[in-house]
Amino acid sequence: MQIYTFKCSSCGEEFEVEIYASLQVLEVKCPECGSDDLEVINIVNLCSPFG
Ligand SMILES: [Zn+2]
Repeated sequence: MQIYTFKCSSCGEEFEVEIYASLQVLEVKCPECGSDDLEVINIVNLCSPFG
């Protein structure tokens, strides 16, 4: 699982989304204005110690 940090190109909102599958990124929309014009500014990999 990864945490993507997005920045909305329309309103400038930055928000984080938990991503379980890469295609899920395509469905993310800005929680503020609903735009899908988003830029990925950070990706954090979360590794479970239990695999
Ligand atoms: Zn927005």
